[in-house]
Amino acid sequence: MAKKDYYETLGVSRTDSSETIKKNYKKLALKFHPDKASDDKKKEYEESFKEINEAYSTLGDEAKRKRYDLGEPSQFNQGSSRQHSGDLSDILRDLFMNGSFGGQSSDQGDSENGEDLRYELTIDFNEAAFGCEKEILIRKDISCTACGGSGAEDEQFKTCQKCNGQGRLKVSMRTPFGIIGQTIRCDSCLGAGQIAENKCLHCRGHGILSSKEKTKIRIPAGIDNDQTLRVPGAGNAIKNGSEGDLYLTVRVRPHKMFKREGFNVYTELSISFSQAALGGEVTIPILPSGEIKIKIEKGIESGNILRLKGRGIPFVNDSRHRGDQFVNIKIKTPKKLSKAQMHLFEELAKLDE
Ligand SMILES: [Zn+2]
Ligand SMILES: [Zn+2]
Repeated sequence: MAKKDYYETLGVSRTDSSETIKKNYKKLALKFHPDKASDDKKKEYEESFKEINEAYSTLGDEAKRKRYDLGEPSQFNQGSSRQHSGDLSDILRDLFMNGSFGGQSSDQGDSENGEDLRYELTIDFNEAAFGCEKEILIRKDISCTACGGSGAEDEQFKTCQKCNGQGRLKVSMRTPFGIIGQTIRCDSCLGAGQIAENKCLHCRGHGILSSKEKTKIRIPAGIDNDQTLRVPGAGNAIKNGSEGDLYLTVRVRPHKMFKREGFNVYTELSISFSQAALGGEVTIPILPSGEIKIKIEKGIESGNILRLKGRGIPFVNDSRHRGDQFVNIKIKTPKKLSKAQMHLFEELAKLDE
C-alpha cells in the first residue's frame, strides 16, 4: 500500500518552514481529535489523527525531515514500545498552557507517562560513523524498590476520597476553541483510585525514587552531529504509569582529516609537481583508519577531485552501504629548493620558453 505523503497529510509544501508545519499540525490535530468526533465519524477521525501524528513525528523533527526529504525511512521510530500518542491534552498544553496545566510544574496531573528526559552525549567521529555502545549515568526517577512502586508500606490500601476510587477527575478547560471537558488523572491518588494505609518509608508513599542509573545505549552507525536518538522507556518512571522516553542528542567531535557532509566525507591530498606531471601511485587515508594506494593520472591539476566509492559513512539504516569519499587534490609548490632542484626547474623553465 502506498503511503501518503507526509507534507500532503499536513497540508503544507516541502519548502514550508518548521513553524508553518507546526501550526498546521496543531490545527489539524485539534480538528481531528477523536474526542471531538460524533459517533459515526469516530473511526474516520481516529484514522486522520493517526496519520497527522505520524506525519508530524517526522516533519516536526529537523533531522528526520531531512532524511524523509532524501527518501530515507525514519529509523528512530521503529521497534519502540510506545508511539507518540498525540494526546489532546498534550497539544492543548503545548498551545496555551506552556506546560503548566493545573498549576503543576511537572508533567503530572493528566499524564500517565513519566517525564521524558533529555541528555547530550559527545562521541568521536568514528564512533558516530561506525556505531558504538555507550553507558551513561543519568539521574532519574525509578520505581521504588522497597514497595514495588505502590507507595504502601504493607500492601494495605483504602479508597481515594477525592475521586471515589475512579482514579480520574472531570474538569472543564476554557480555550479559544470553547470550553472543553477533560478527564484528568486524580492528583490525590495519582490515578490508582486507592491510597496507601501506611506510606512506604523508603519513598514516603510516592512510589518513586530519584536515583543515578546506568543506561546502556547502542548508537547506530551513521548517526550525525546534533541528531537525537529516542530510547523508549528510559525516561522518568511515574507512579501508576509507564516510563517516559530518553532523548539523547549526539554531539560528534570533528576528525582531524575527514570532514563529513551527510554520508559523504571529504579529505585533501597534497601531491608534488612531479607527481602531478608524471602521475603514479599515491597513498590516501581512509575510514575508519588505515590507507589505500590509488593511481593518479598524469596531468592531474590542483582542485581535481577523486571519488572513492563506498569509502564514506555507513547509512543509518543500512550499514552495509556507505557514502563516498571525495579527495581534493592540492599541488604543493615547493618553498625551498635544493641546488639540484633549482637547477632542474631552471632547465624545465627553459623548455617552457
Ligand atoms: Zn483519587
Ligand atoms: Zn516505596
